[in-house]
Amino acid sequence: GDYNQKIDYVFKVVLIGDSAVGKTQLLARFARNEFSMDSKATIGVEFQTKTLIIDNKTVKAQIWDTAGQERYRAVTSAYYRGAVGAMLVFDMTKRQSFDHMARWLEELRGHADKNIVIMLIGNKCDLAALRAVPTEDAQEFAQRENLFFMETSALESTNVETAFLTILTEIYRII
Ligand code: GDP
Ligand code: MG
Repeated sequence: GDYNQKIDYVFKVVLIGDSAVGKTQLLARFARNEFSMDSKATIGVEFQTKTLIIDNKTVKAQIWDTAGQERYRAVTSAYYRGAVGAMLVFDMTKRQSFDHMARWLEELRGHADKNIVIMLIGNKCDLAALRAVPTEDAQEFAQRENLFFMETSALESTNVETAFLTILTEIYRII
């Protein structure tokens, strides 16, 4: 909740990646500690906020979620405008969603500020038996492109808080 407190910073972070990789559920888990197996439960709002303390400063994270704009080049420049962070999300059980990360990154870099902090997220790590993207492949891509990288599960809550805290703390560190 956003109480009656002084906000020191507002950080806009955008979620991008193919449809059904879990962007909306990662946001639901982070912002409200909720999860739904029903992908149609995608809420129609543009963004959700969560206020947290970093280094004794009150930071309002404004996390933007695509609502069915996941087709290539369908995300508008307004979505990226003012973003200081981006999470590039793939589904580790869907190789194609990882292979598409390069073009999502290209699109992001074409729209966003050059100092934007970017984190690669391999979501659905609870489905270990169905893994289609080895950790090393994602690590290698992240290293080459200078991205943070984390594997998460919105379902089991694994690394979700850590991923958002890491990107927000890095944004705070470089501003
Ligand atoms: P989006 O299109 O990227 O926003 O994807 P959604 O958040 O709507 O998720 C798509 C589907 O994947 C839904 O059925 C979710 O319940 C499911 N899902 C999302 N995250 C996870 C996860 O971490 N593990 C598992 N097993 N399923 C997930
Ligand atoms: Mg969604």
